[in-house]
Amino acid sequence: MIIPVCLFLAAVFSISRTGLGASDKISIAVQPLGPVDADALDAVKNGILSAYRVRVEVRTPLPLPRPAYYDKAKRYRAEKLLDFLESLDGCDKIIGLTSADISTTKGSIPDWGIFGLGTMGGRACVVSTFRLGRGNVPRGHFLARLVKVANHELGHTFGLDHCPVKGCLMEDAKGTIRTVDGESGAPCAGCRKKIKGIIIEGPR
Ligand SMILES: [Zn+2]
Ligand SMILES: [Zn+2]
Repeated sequence: MIIPVCLFLAAVFSISRTGLGASDKISIAVQPLGPVDADALDAVKNGILSAYRVRVEVRTPLPLPRPAYYDKAKRYRAEKLLDFLESLDGCDKIIGLTSADISTTKGSIPDWGIFGLGTMGGRACVVSTFRLGRGNVPRGHFLARLVKVANHELGHTFGLDHCPVKGCLMEDAKGTIRTVDGESGAPCAGCRKKIKGIIIEGPR
């Protein structure tokens, strides 16, 4: 008799997570991992709110998880950071922010430094400020890059794949900051259509 009750509860839980909250109730936690500048956290929060119909909560910083550190390259493995972020609850989606360098495996390159990584249709993404030119470009330019990368990675968690349209937020940066600079900061019409109800409508 216990099994049917559990199944019922599981079904209700599933509806409340994916159905009722899908339009404007999705909650996003911004999770600093290690020290992150206050203005960068503000920019990411406001940038998310200007793009997506969601709630955003900036959380207290947590130390970078030691198991994600890759000694050989002296940087953090992004997918291990995603595992850690996935283990944190109390939100629908979570975006980790760090000033440390992060990397992943890209094709035949075992450890490739990246701006960010997000799980397609998943719950977690992570963004690093390490390759965004802090101190080398005006602060506003740096923050604009950060917001674009954050909204791009969140876009992956909303199920958006890379997009061939030049200037689209979901364009594959291919490790080049120039691609990020060339992006408008907004998804193209095709990408917007795929996340209707989540993306904020109107000219951008
Ligand atoms: Zn991407
Ligand atoms: Zn697009």
